[in-house]
Amino acid sequence: MTARPVAIALGGNLGDVRAAFRTALTALAAAEGVRVVAVSPLYRTAPVGGVEQDDFLNAAALLAVGLEPLALLAVLQRLEAAAERVREERWGPRTLDLDVLWWDGVAIGEPGLVVPHPRLHERRFALQPLLDVVPRAADAAGRPYRAVLAALPAGEVEVVGGPGVVYDPTCSDR
Ligand code: ATP
Ligand code: CA
Ligand code: CA
Repeated sequence: MTARPVAIALGGNLGDVRAAFRTALTALAAAEGVRVVAVSPLYRTAPVGGVEQDDFLNAAALLAVGLEPLALLAVLQRLEAAAERVREERWGPRTLDLDVLWWDGVAIGEPGLVVPHPRLHERRFALQPLLDVVPRAADAAGRPYRAVLAALPAGEVEVVGGPGVVYDPTCSDR
């Protein structure tokens, strides 16, 4: 299967989140059918969804994926479980959340997987890092996410580390 560009989101606000991101990206780089091409800067963002909790750290990674979408989702969910993520309240605190944001040229509407991510267009904390790694990304209707982001109300998204602070793909073996 030819590898296609895919962007994923990384998020978390419990424990050592940077370490969880690094562990997940190292595991992704080692996974069959997945390459880590680029990683965004690290952002600190205010929580959404109304649950009282600590700020989140967020980032995005550009992957080259030669797997079926549900197979990639299974890999991401295995890595969340490995980070001892416990699913309690929706949108509540978590050690690691890995979402598929965007899959080049592909739209998916299955019960367990919607791509582009259904709430991407309303989330500055996901759009900003997505555009860092795929500046040309557009939604299924062809609207550039750069325009979607520009139209959002101002939000709390602060850079806390440059590219490479989370994980530098050029330093790995592949
Ligand atoms: P949100 O979806 O609003 O970001 P969340 O990430 O907290 O919320 P989860 O509990 O992590 O939600 O995931 C709930 C379900 O969403 C997963 O079991 C998965 O099957 C489904 N899902 C649908 N589309 C996607 C996607 N693009 N990426 C990851 N999971 C998805
Ligand atoms: Ca999420
Ligand atoms: Ca998720």
